[in-house]
Amino acid sequence: MSLQKIFVAGVWREGRGEPLMTTFPADGSINAELRAASIEDVEEAVALADQAWRQPAWRTLLPHQRAAILHRVSDLIAAQQEELAELQTRDNGKPLAETRGLVASAAATARYFAAVCEVQEGEIPPARSQQLITLSRYEPLGVVAAITPWNSPIASEMQKIAPALAAGNAVIVKPAEATPLLALKLAEIFAEAGLPPGLLSVLPGKGSVIGDALVRHPLIKKISFTGGTKTGRALAHIAAEKLIPASLELGGKSPTIVLADADIEQAARGICYGIFSSGGQACIAGSRLFVHRSVWQPLMDRLLSLTRQLRLGHPLMPGNHIGPLISHAQRQQVMDYVALAREEGGEILCGGEIPADPALAAGSWFQPTIITGLDNRARVCQEEIFGPVLVAMPFDDESALIADANHSIFGLAAGIWTRDSGRALQLAEQLEVGTVWINTYKVFAISTPFGGYKQSGLGREKGLQGIKAWMQQKSIYLATTPTINRWSD
Ligand code: ADP
Repeated sequence: MSLQKIFVAGVWREGRGEPLMTTFPADGSINAELRAASIEDVEEAVALADQAWRQPAWRTLLPHQRAAILHRVSDLIAAQQEELAELQTRDNGKPLAETRGLVASAAATARYFAAVCEVQEGEIPPARSQQLITLSRYEPLGVVAAITPWNSPIASEMQKIAPALAAGNAVIVKPAEATPLLALKLAEIFAEAGLPPGLLSVLPGKGSVIGDALVRHPLIKKISFTGGTKTGRALAHIAAEKLIPASLELGGKSPTIVLADADIEQAARGICYGIFSSGGQACIAGSRLFVHRSVWQPLMDRLLSLTRQLRLGHPLMPGNHIGPLISHAQRQQVMDYVALAREEGGEILCGGEIPADPALAAGSWFQPTIITGLDNRARVCQEEIFGPVLVAMPFDDESALIADANHSIFGLAAGIWTRDSGRALQLAEQLEVGTVWINTYKVFAISTPFGGYKQSGLGREKGLQGIKAWMQQKSIYLATTPTINRWSD
């Protein structure tokens, strides 16, 4: 197998760092072997990026010209939809139905930020003097770092690259160790779409080495990170020392609430999808369920029956719902939480084991698991498991429910199931989370901002204003008459 090259400032070449191997989580077969980026590669990529974004060829490119590149990127992604989805499935083991959605989302994101780029406007704030015109404009930051996790590579990478470039920056991507292939594919697509060299580099490698060197580099002017809360906090410290902005999309332990008047069938289906799609490896997974006691039994019966029908299987085979977890280490972490749930007094209603099917033995599958009998303060109800594990709790009183739903260090998302929209909106206002889904779960629109409350993050991605997070504002005062430049006497 020939070594996969990395993309340093428009040039494909071998990394100068450690050997790195990416494997298919379904069977452990090798997807690609490469050498990771080295610290010298980071320095070179950042220095060339700094030159590239200052070049007139990029700085003077008009918004509609930058948009044209993003439109070409979107078309190229759409044209390779199936190939990219398969590659992403091999990269992290998500079933094809999900990775197709992620590829479509990446194409849509490029198209959306092409549009945002074209309609982006500065302001002319009302002048406070007859002799002045005041302008407020938005300028790029320079070279920015995008650090991404393994659970939705192509979508989370595009969510950073597209607005960063649309805003006029240069961007260095450090993909997750386990999943560098889609970011490298994106580099190929951006080059083919005509992005000038230097404006995008993709540097696979260890977070603690390459990621760390990247964010500490003096020429890096923003950190955009998606990943665990612990790493996010460490990066926020570095950003604070450098006095640069950090945008952080972190963990979650999202509550889903079923009120007494909910449509039980729709709620059960939405809850099942909200926790078990992607094998629960999603920051927004609806992992804490609160059900009004009056509908507890019918809801749980239906949820159990739907969960038992989920098909665990090869992620490249159509019709399978649950692929392997990303790695055996990740599965062990999930199993440790299930053991902890038992110790804490939880009852495992379904799952809780490695599936017995010999066809799944080579991968890191884990059964979808539902646990009851725990108090919301139990560790299993408070810590992010990042696997197919749902904790379910009945509730009687709405004010106690809100206190419990909000009792979490996280505040990423929440779900509410009820036929009463007014009540749902009132509840939504009281939940300390960045996104609330009512009678649905885990649906996204690139036009709608996303980000966390509390320790789930800082800053927002997506939406019309999302591009501003990649820019800095400048005010200009223009005197229309020299009389203004006098001492008052
Ligand atoms: P996860 O639990 O999702 O793997 P991490 O926070 O460990 O979350 O990883 C998300 C991304 O952050 C990955 O690309 C990883 O390599 C990177 N990363 C991990 N540690 C650091 C670090 N100290 N500095 C910079 N990047 C890091």
